[in-house]
Amino acid sequence: MVSFGPENRLAVNVQDKLAILADAAKYDASCASSGSKTTRAGARIGSTEGMGICHSYTPDGRCVSLLKILLTNYCIYDCQYCVNRITSDVPRARFAVEEVVRLTLEFYRRNYIEGLFLSSGIIQNPDYTMEQLVAVARTLREAHWFGGYIHLKAIPRAAEELIAEAGRWADRISVNIELPTEHDLVQLAPEKKRTEIEQSMMEIKTRIDARREDQQAGFQTPPFAPAGQSTQMIVGATSTPDVDILATAHHLYEKRNLRRVYYSAYSPIPHADARLPPQTPPLVREHRLYQADWLLRFYGFELQELVTPGKPNLDLDVDPKLAWALEHREQFPVDVNTADRETLLRIPGLGVKTVDRILRSRRRHRLRAVDLRKLRIPWSRVQHFVTTPDHKPRPKMLESPHLARQLHSQSTRQLTLFQ
Ligand code: SF4
Repeated sequence: MVSFGPENRLAVNVQDKLAILADAAKYDASCASSGSKTTRAGARIGSTEGMGICHSYTPDGRCVSLLKILLTNYCIYDCQYCVNRITSDVPRARFAVEEVVRLTLEFYRRNYIEGLFLSSGIIQNPDYTMEQLVAVARTLREAHWFGGYIHLKAIPRAAEELIAEAGRWADRISVNIELPTEHDLVQLAPEKKRTEIEQSMMEIKTRIDARREDQQAGFQTPPFAPAGQSTQMIVGATSTPDVDILATAHHLYEKRNLRRVYYSAYSPIPHADARLPPQTPPLVREHRLYQADWLLRFYGFELQELVTPGKPNLDLDVDPKLAWALEHREQFPVDVNTADRETLLRIPGLGVKTVDRILRSRRRHRLRAVDLRKLRIPWSRVQHFVTTPDHKPRPKMLESPHLARQLHSQSTRQLTLFQ
């Protein structure tokens, strides 16, 4: 029999529960949502595309607001990095399915939110927990014709039928990988198994793929997680370096077809295990991981170009693309009027959209420095790495150690703003 602490630490009214369960959900970073065009037949309320209070960002920079809560912060597991673990002495609360449904609808009608992100501690067992999560989504969709965005957490080891039903009602599903390596899980979350987590991801992937194939073949099939699946990885709870974190992310993108991996800096919790660090890692590490993740997915970089076993961590001082360029100065300057897309994407300061604009513009005429400035590229950075008919960087500057210092101080100014 599991005991969750003294009775007087149980929240009973909805407002208290909301305070506890919204606060407990803040540690889950995997809820930034990708809006999807709602295709739910008969939906009467709820839009996944409108603008609202900004809580979560889509990959294209749009933001949607979600009611982000746990169904309960009771949990039978003892993950050492988690404030909701069974041995944690925090006030506990649990919503009934109907309470979450009512809150979602009321908040939606008041225009506070555009959707729901629902996760939960594990109560009784994975199947029971998953059933409760699915019941919320099913009631919203079937009983209230809710067409807004729903992101559900999938519980590893939950029955396949439950995962299948979760995907039917939810826009996005996420299964948290939690820690980057199996070794880390054994140390800090012994009830969790990497194989079981990945098995759940695989089931979701298989169903997403099957639905896409059915659609391509012209069959009308019910939706299954149209905004895909995502996961969260905690960074800095162990000494695992960036090379392993990015290798795991790369594996999940390639083999499990994840839409996003979210990196969440470990946040110290009260009475934490002595193996955990006393403080949060530098937040800039999380930022560098996102930048490297982007380079791997959209810029054609290979993992070993950014981190290697000999240099296992990203440089915190400069962004990974600039770090790569400074180590490969022989590949610059690049002629923006003749270079191919892959080469342009490697120029520090040029993003995917800017590169595409350059490619379109140069079809009409040869680009000069003034044209690049009009495209709003960060010229003070880009100028060292490009040539145009009217601009050639000073060769000495490109070879000089001062360049690293100068660009480093620009990055530091940007980082200060970021932080
Ligand atoms: S299963 Fe989830 S909620 Fe429970 S202790 Fe582990 S991380 Fe926390």
